Amino acid sequence: MAIDTSVPSIARIYDYFLDGKDNFACDRELAAELLRVAPEARAMARDNRAFLGRVVRYLAGCGITQFLDIGTGLPTQNNVHEVAQEIAPDTKVAYVDNDPVVLVHARALLADNPHTIVVEADVRDPRALLADPALRELIDFDQPVAVLLVGILYFFPEEDRPFDIVAAFRDAVAPGSYLALSHVVADEGPDELGRAQELYRTFLKRSGDARRTRAQVLSFFDGLEFAEPGLVPARHWRPDPGTTADTGDGAGWILGGVGRKKA
Ligand code: SAM
Repeated sequence: MAIDTSVPSIARIYDYFLDGKDNFACDRELAAELLRVAPEARAMARDNRAFLGRVVRYLAGCGITQFLDIGTGLPTQNNVHEVAQEIAPDTKVAYVDNDPVVLVHARALLADNPHTIVVEADVRDPRALLADPALRELIDFDQPVAVLLVGILYFFPEEDRPFDIVAAFRDAVAPGSYLALSHVVADEGPDELGRAQELYRTFLKRSGDARRTRAQVLSFFDGLEFAEPGLVPARHWRPDPGTTADTGDGAGWILGGVGRKKA
């Protein structure tokens, strides 16, 4: 897929919010517009990224040695394999994204790591992804896997069937597997949040409303048992010891949780 530097991308806007360098003028323009409407967007991106790191450390600590990271984003600090392999060096990580810039950077970063792969796929077709030969060679679906859908589902309106996407992964993994996700919630955030999502939709030329309530986000975890502390503001999910997870800057607008498929 060609890289179009005139159309903003989700991955590059997120990279900009995280102070990354892999973004173009069109991304920065939309990011500025988003920040004007919802200044908390940057803090939300940082909360989300930090949540991902803590989740991976937690899951690696639970003995998980296989990760399927869907909607990887541009490599930044604390990438999934770096965090997990620090705990268990042989941990396998399959990174999945459909953004050409992400794929180029991820492949460059991972070129000499034998336990990781980068899969180009659109997660809205989960069955095609799950059938990918390289994925099936790396990940043993008869053993527990952690499926990470962090910072992605809130880009999918109902017509993308996000609940079916999650169900497809839940059904494909072995008992003892985990699902981790984060999601912006419409009932916690104020109107700015709705306007920011509207901006995303317009610029990314997506139709349909992807806003969800806390109750809807909870139902992504149907059939799974929550790891403590359940579905909470991402910033408050097992904060690192010694850090104070304050409640300002839109802390409650993005929720995170981890669920386990019962054995
Ligand atoms: N998961 C990372 C994190 O939480 O730090 C990155 C989140 S970033 C906000 C969302 C990522 O999802 C982007 O890299 C984007 O390219 C990817 N993405 C969006 N739609 C996708 C799709 N339909 N299939 C695969 N990846 C997608």
